[in-house]
Amino acid sequence: MPRRIDHLGIAVRSIDQALGFYRDTLGLAVDHVETVAEQKVKAAMLPVGESRLELMEPTDPTGAVGKFLETRGEGLQHVAIGVDDIEAALARAREHGARLIDETPRVGAGGALVAFIHPKSSFGVLIELVQRGKGVESEHGTLYSS
Ligand code: ZN
Repeated sequence: MPRRIDHLGIAVRSIDQALGFYRDTLGLAVDHVETVAEQKVKAAMLPVGESRLELMEPTDPTGAVGKFLETRGEGLQHVAIGVDDIEAALARAREHGARLIDETPRVGAGGALVAFIHPKSSFGVLIELVQRGKGVESEHGTLYSS
C-alpha cells in the first residue's frame, strides 16, 4: 500500500549552489548530506513535513543523475513513493506490465530498500519505490533504523 511521498529527487549540478535557494531562500533545514556510491550521487536531505527533498549532485557523469543532467538539465528527476512491502509493490507493478529498472530491491540512501520503475511506464516520471524500517512515523531518529 503506497503510504506517502517519501521524497522528491532533484538533480542539481552543485548542492552548495542549490542550497542558496532551498535552504537560504525557502528556509528548509538540511538534515544531512550523504554519498550514495551505488547511485553515483551526493545527496542532501531537506525534510518537509514527513517527506523531504533530496538534492542530488552527481559524483560521476556516467551515473543516472549525471546522464539526466546532461540530457535534461537540472530539475525534478524522480518521485519516491513510500510503501510497506516493496516486494509486493514490485510484484504488482510487474503483474501490470510495468517496465522495471530494478527486478529486485537494492539498498539506497539511508539504508532503505529501493527499486525504480521506468518512466516509459509511468508517463514520463521516474518512480522510485522505497521501503524503510519499522517506525517510519517520524522522519528523524527512527526513519533510518532499519
Ligand atoms: Zn530517491
